[in-house]
This record gives sequence, structure tokens and C-alpha cells, in this order.
Amino acid sequence: MSECVFCRIARGEAPARLVYQDEDVTAFYDRNPRAPTHVLIIPNRHIAGVAQAEPEDAAVLGKLLIVARQVAEQEGIASGYRLVVNNGRLAGQSVFHLHVHLLGGRPLGWPPG
Ligand code: AMP
Ligand code: ZN
Repeated sequence: MSECVFCRIARGEAPARLVYQDEDVTAFYDRNPRAPTHVLIIPNRHIAGVAQAEPEDAAVLGKLLIVARQVAEQEGIASGYRLVVNNGRLAGQSVFHLHVHLLGGRPLGWPPG
């Protein structure tokens, strides 16, 4: 999976502004931010999307949310933020390495587009 840009970011082989990293998870600023704070949280191990996740991925999937909460606090947006996981092209997924978008820093409309 060496072609996958998010695998490369997790390994430190592609540039990104990291906000958090441990042995399981990496978080970095989105290069095309859709809100004043826009961070992506990914598993270091390649999982293409929610549709490809297996029961044994449950722990790392849960950890993505815990890290998202920690980053939201760190970024000063704990009072209101949105977590988004696009799954499949029809839903807007463009990078096929599972990622949680953390968006905040402005009012967020509902329903999303
Ligand atoms: P999605 O459309 O849900 O698959 O989200 C992919 C996100 O990854 C988009 O918001 C892109 O701006 C972002 N993105 C793609 N490549 C990079 C990169 N090399 N560094 C940071 N963000 C990226
Ligand atoms: Zn990958």
C-alpha cells in the first residue's frame, strides 16, 4: 500500500502538519480546510474505508474518536465540532484510507450537503 498518500503521511514519508501521532493513530491538518479547524484522524494501518473495516479493527476505530476529542480540546473547539467519515465516492470519499474529519471553529449547518 506504499502508493497510499495517508499511509505515506503516517510513516513520515509524505509532508503533513501533524497534530498528534502514536503507534496506532495519526492526526494532521487537512491541506484544503473547509473550516477554521479541519484535522484528519487516521489509523496508521491501512483500512480503505468503513465498508472495509473488520471486527478486529474496532479498537483502532474507537481510538480515532478519542483522539478526535483530544485534538478538539487542544485546538480550542471543544464547545462545538463535527466528526465526518465519508464512505464511498457517492458520499464524497476521495482518499481511500479511512479518515475522520474533525471540523470546527465556525457554526456548522445541518443537514450537511
Ligand atoms: P474525503 O473526501 O472524505 O476522502 O477527504 C479527503 C480529504 O483529504 C480532503 O479534505 C483533502 O483535502 C484531504 N487531503 C488529501 N490529500 C491530503 C494531503 N496530502 N495532506 C492533507 N490533506 C489531504
Ligand atoms: Zn493507506
